[in-house]
Amino acid sequence: MSETMKKTLESPRTKYPQPPFPKQPQDVPGLASKMDPIPDHGEKSYKGSGRLTGRKALITGGDSGIGRAAAIAYAREGADVVINYLPQEQSDADEVLALIKAEGRQGFGIPGDITIESFCEELVSQAVEKLGGLDILVNNAGHQQAIESLSDISSSDFDTTFKTNVYAPFWITKAALPHLPEGSVIIATSSVQAYDPSENLFDYAQTKAANVAFVKSLAKQLGPKGIRVNGVAPGPVWTPLQTSGGQPQEAIVKFGEVTPLGRPGQPAELASIYVQLADSDASYATGQIYGAAGGNGHP
Ligand code: NAD
Ligand code: MG
Repeated sequence: MSETMKKTLESPRTKYPQPPFPKQPQDVPGLASKMDPIPDHGEKSYKGSGRLTGRKALITGGDSGIGRAAAIAYAREGADVVINYLPQEQSDADEVLALIKAEGRQGFGIPGDITIESFCEELVSQAVEKLGGLDILVNNAGHQQAIESLSDISSSDFDTTFKTNVYAPFWITKAALPHLPEGSVIIATSSVQAYDPSENLFDYAQTKAANVAFVKSLAKQLGPKGIRVNGVAPGPVWTPLQTSGGQPQEAIVKFGEVTPLGRPGQPAELASIYVQLADSDASYATGQIYGAAGGNGHP
């Protein structure tokens, strides 16, 4: 078999690390750099082909995980990118910004807490100023804490989950809309949890279902304006969201084991979906949720 053939024909089963994984608790929000194994966000593998040349993207949670994979891919496809993240994640963000700049693209980091409405407005206005406009908005930041019983979820826990996953996309999108020209796209990161909620993710699963309704409703509202709205519903993906309390540590050990592929997804495996949804080639795709879940789950 030639080298090229070998590269094209990779088994999705053995391509990436399989469980068991070591227990590795971190405080929220967690750092990708402290994970074992370190996730693959496409740092070495993602190859662009000019699909997003000249585009201007804002990605929340772009420092790590799925958002980082999208940020790297967008830059390699020719877009300038602003990433938002929490101040504690500056070291992860710096790695992403360096990769964006290595592509000769503009990369800007705007740290701050999106559970605060005034910061969301500030984030959008700063992003628009730095990029000289905006035509891709990826509402990807998320908060997930596994709690066994509804009785143990405090109002403050519930608030943080909903503020991060539901209110922030509303505030950010509201602030962004006046800046988005026809042809722009909005992309949400939902989850298989929207369709098949786990018993210990009671509040989180509801927010991810809300993300689906966000996409379906807003796509109808913005279709006549020529703005597409889509979402991605990942299954188990190897990111700090999961290791910093998104799952109990016992579940981290066997994370992804129940999927037909027998392993968790890596953020890099979702990057091309975020590119596809942003690319004008996908001009008839709006109001859709794209899945990537290793063989289980919906949609
Ligand atoms: P991640 O931890 O790498 O990314 C989440 C990011 O959210 C963090 O990096 C952080 O910057 C950001 N964030 C959280 N609270 C914030 C706040 N108050 N202000 C600003 N930023 C904040 O993990 P990830 O898994 O890549 O998560 C990205 C998205 O994917 C989330 O919406 C999550 O719900 C969704 N998702 C993840 C999985 C999975 O298995 N990892 C599965 C389905 C859906
Ligand atoms: Mg992070």
